This record gives sequence, C-alpha cells and structure tokens, in this order.
Amino acid sequence: MSKIVCDFCGAADTKTNPIITGDNASICKACVNAASEIMNAELEGTTSTQKDSDAKIEIKIKTPAELKKILDEYVIGQDRAKKVLSVAVYNHYKRIFRKDEVNGDIELNKSNVLLIGPTGSGKTLLAQTISKYLDVPLAIADATSLTEAGYVGDDVENVVTRLVQAASGDIEKAQRGIIFIDEIDKIARMSENRSITRDVSGEGVQQALLKIVEGAVVNVPPKGGRKHPGQDSLQVDTTNILFICGGAFDGLEDIIRRKQGSNVLGFNQDKKSKDEQDKIISKVETDDLVKYGLIPELIGRLHMVATLNEITKEDMVHILTEPKNALIKQYIKLFEMDNVTLEFEKDALLELAELAIKRKTGARGLRSILEDIMLDIMFDLPKYKNKKIVITKNVIQKKEEPIVSKG
Ligand code: ADP
Repeated sequence: MSKIVCDFCGAADTKTNPIITGDNASICKACVNAASEIMNAELEGTTSTQKDSDAKIEIKIKTPAELKKILDEYVIGQDRAKKVLSVAVYNHYKRIFRKDEVNGDIELNKSNVLLIGPTGSGKTLLAQTISKYLDVPLAIADATSLTEAGYVGDDVENVVTRLVQAASGDIEKAQRGIIFIDEIDKIARMSENRSITRDVSGEGVQQALLKIVEGAVVNVPPKGGRKHPGQDSLQVDTTNILFICGGAFDGLEDIIRRKQGSNVLGFNQDKKSKDEQDKIISKVETDDLVKYGLIPELIGRLHMVATLNEITKEDMVHILTEPKNALIKQYIKLFEMDNVTLEFEKDALLELAELAIKRKTGARGLRSILEDIMLDIMFDLPKYKNKKIVITKNVIQKKEEPIVSKG
C-alpha cells in the first residue's frame, strides 16, 4: 500500500501534522492552515505581514514562578520539568529583551530545552501552554518526518516556515517564537549500544537541525507553504527562536544503568517500579545521550534537560478533573448548557484511568475513551433535560445506563 502524503507539500501523515484524504487528493494540517491564512489575507486585501510590520513586538517577561503557576493550571505533576522549562523560558526572553544590560565580554547562550519522558506525559502540552500564555507562535514538528534538504520529505527548514505561518506571516513575531520538535529520539544515529533499525541514519537530520537551533538565516516562501519559482523568499533568523525537543528515549534507562554498573537483565527481570525507572532516567547526563545516538553538538545546544514521569493512575484522575480545561469539566459544562447535571463517581474515574493505562499512550488515551463512552449519552442528551446523570464504574466497564434522577 502506498504511503499517504500531502499532495501540496509532500509531507507524510504524522501525529502532529495529520492528513485529510478526499476522493482525489490529500492535504495536511499545515497546508490547510496556510491556505486559510492566504484566503483571509486575500479577503482583507493585505497580508498580515504588511499589516503588522510596524506593530512593536512586546512579550511581557513573566518570572519563573509566574510561568510555573500557569503551567500548574494545565499540567498535572511533572514538577521538575515545569521548573526547568519556566527557568529556560524566563532566561530566553530575558536574553532577548534585556540584552542592553549585558556588557561586551559576556555572551548569554540560548537555553534550548530537551524534555525526556514517555509518550502522553505532557511534553507537547508544556510547550503549548507556555506559547499560549506568552502569546508567542509555536510550531510543532515530528522529527521522524524531517529529512535533510534535498531528500523526499519535510526538510528541516519547513519547520521555520510553519512557525511563520503560526505567526500569521509576521516574521518579527516568528523570530521570537518556539519550535517544538517531537520524537527527537527517533532520529538517533545508529550506535553499537542499541539495535535500532532505520534505513537512513538520523545523523544528517540532526546536523540539519543543529544549524537552525544554533541560529541561521532561513529562506521562507512569502505566503507560507510551498516555495514557488519566481516568488521572492523572506528571510527568518532563527537565533532567537526557542527550541524545545521532546522524546521518549526508550532504552535510555539501560544505558544509564550500565554506566552505574547495574546488571540490566537482572533489573528487567525484577521489573522495578515505575518510580524507580523515573528516578534512573532523571539521572541522565550528556554522555548517556551521546551513547543513545544524539550528536554531541546538538546536545550541547539543548542546555536544559528535564525528565517527565510516567503518568500514574492517580495522575490520570487528576488530569481528568483538575486542569482549567479538564475533560470532565468540559463535559459538565456541555451538559449544563442543556440543563442536565452530570456527575462522575470516583470509581468511574479510576476505571477510565485504568483503561487509559492499558492503552500505553499515557494521558493521550483519556479523551478518546471518554468520548466513546459519552457518545450515546450525548446523543440522548435532550431527554435528560432537568435531570441528574451519574456515571458509575459500570457505565464505563459494562456500558450500562447511567443513573438518572431528578435534577
Ligand atoms: P507527549 O508527552 O507525548 O508530548 P502530550 O503533551 O501530547 O504528550 O499529551 C497528550 C494529551 O494528554 C495532552 O493534550 C493532555 O490532554 C494530556 N496530558 C498528558 N500529560 C498531561 C499532564 N501531565 N497533565 C495534564 N494533561 C496531560
């Protein structure tokens, strides 16, 4: 079967850039966004670049504590990662906006971030939350879809194009934005320590990434999307763009254990607790990442490293109920708008958490599990008007009817 690719830009179908396929053509999310921006600009008779070029860019620098407080409202647990990210972001924008206070012989380095943690533990969410609250544009790219320039696929510079799109064409804004590169571990080069099977070495992609992470001037097509012959390209300087890289780094634990002289096999047989595993990963050092297959130059540019813990059952329940935009809060609001009172029993929440854990996709699985369960109830929502519905464990486990009483 042939692989689905975007007919406009050739991108592959990925988690962060999914493709919609019609009868005769396919289009990826990035191209849909770009097309919509072009249409809007066309309708207004001006591009946002022209419109906003004079607007002064101002990002209010929040203190690390303020940043962490915002992250706490949306991201459950992951305290250490939240602290590291808050400090990195604070230093980053301080370096940009208060550069006049630094005298000539001191050079402040950019503090790009590496987030190591299992899938669905909140790495992307951290980057999304920070960008939203600083009101800086964010581009998310999957490292596995990136190729060196000239190869078939998404070349690394396209990520910068996407950031310009996220900034609605405003180059100044894009130059102070955030690029999140997910699955950075999947472009590790082959090393004798691990037996990964990749048809191409990720080293070339890492080198290409290194260039934009270090700071380079990238040519971007004026209206985003594809480079067309005859169109003058715009130049984007990546020096002040904050890069956040994320990855699960499966197997990294064994590399760290080996270094500590532990018997890896023995450990696996023992099936050490998740806590133990998280503790080991948190001891990661540069040489472990080199052994894993990241090139030292790239690691050298990702100064701040933070590890995220695997989401536990209790965390899942908190994720369902506590964040400002928690799924359960959203359902309660939706029901309330139809004059229906909705409640979840604690056991029902624990059962949802259990199901998500079985899926092994971290907290990501919660949404689809809940959506599936709530679908039938939502379908019949008007019939519950002025009533109260209680979701019990059996509703989740055995698809039984919820308990309905007078509201
Ligand atoms: P990844 O670590 O793979 O980047 P994501 O950040 O994309 O994971 O998480 C997927 C979804 O799971 C998020 O959009 C969010 O709804 C939920 N989620 C994951 N981790 C957390 C967390 N620590 N706190 C709150 N929600 C979370």
